[in-house]
Amino acid sequence: MIRLYDFGIDVQTYADLGKQNAFPSIHRCPHCQVKRTLYRHGYYERNALMGQEAYRIWIARYRCTICQKTVTVLPTFLFPYFQYTIWTILPCINERLSFLLDKGTRSSRFFPTRQGVYFYMRRLLSNLPWLRWFFQTKGKRILGLSDEPLVQAQEWIQKMEEVCLEVSVK
Ligand SMILES: [Zn+2]
Repeated sequence: MIRLYDFGIDVQTYADLGKQNAFPSIHRCPHCQVKRTLYRHGYYERNALMGQEAYRIWIARYRCTICQKTVTVLPTFLFPYFQYTIWTILPCINERLSFLLDKGTRSSRFFPTRQGVYFYMRRLLSNLPWLRWFFQTKGKRILGLSDEPLVQAQEWIQKMEEVCLEVSVK
């Protein structure tokens, strides 16, 4: 399981700190829900592509002593459009996409913070190639995605829900 964590620093600082970053403690297992501190059982190195820059960064992995399952903590800067507000807005985007793809059959809906929805939707749409790259690095096979950007965006939202991304906010 992936857990997003806001380290409150930029990618350069995170990369420089390496394993000395202030990795969070996880006091409850998100798999079996046991209230026990997960132990950090290692790190792995990965690339972080930020615009034109590539960084090598260390990612911490935790393991639950009860169920033996692991949790990976990813810094939120790896998700350019995944500020935590995205999680409140994602369902709205999804709804908006459904509406756009299904025009005429539904009456117009009310979208809270309309501008926010458009902002995140644009960001999501402009990040479609990045999303493909991200899921590939996670070893997910991406097959049969639509060439139609709006349809593809919906397919991605579904995938994101499937991998159980979790947001932890300080
Ligand atoms: Zn557990």
